Amino acid sequence: MARPLGTYPPTSSRIEHTKPAKAGVRVGHSPTGSGVFANRRYRQDDLIGEIVGQLIHDASYGSDYCFELDAGRLIEPVAPFRFINHSCDPNCEFDYSDRPLSDRQGRDTRIFVFAARVINVNDQLTIDYNWAAKSAIPCECGASNCRGWIVAQEELWKLNEMAEGNQMFRSAV
Ligand SMILES: [Zn+2]
Repeated sequence: MARPLGTYPPTSSRIEHTKPAKAGVRVGHSPTGSGVFANRRYRQDDLIGEIVGQLIHDASYGSDYCFELDAGRLIEPVAPFRFINHSCDPNCEFDYSDRPLSDRQGRDTRIFVFAARVINVNDQLTIDYNWAAKSAIPCECGASNCRGWIVAQEELWKLNEMAEGNQMFRSAV
């Protein structure tokens, strides 16, 4: 499960002390379009890479690829991690470092992708998108614990409630 900003101290020790291997991943074809695949083996907690992209300060901005840092701040990522797919049983997770800029206003926020468990060569890398119920779409990740929707675990009840509401509506007609 992805870790929201603030779960870790401003500089997580594993961010400070690990360096991602070059070309550890590649973009390739996945059953749902494009995906990110491992070129090497990763152990749990290995740093795979940093999500790099355009920082956007606009709460109304949206795209299929952007990551929300916090209220009103998003990153529109470039490859490879632009193409990392969702799974309800992901093998990767995010971690953040967030610290004030020393000489300017604002904050230096960086997002990293870590291995959540052992990842073997050619495995597809996945994360949990943790989308809000209002953004949910059907999930085809194929995991045994698939929630059926690309949605945060804690928002799933909202979708179930909506589905029950629709059924009651249908049976009343
Ligand atoms: Zn799923």
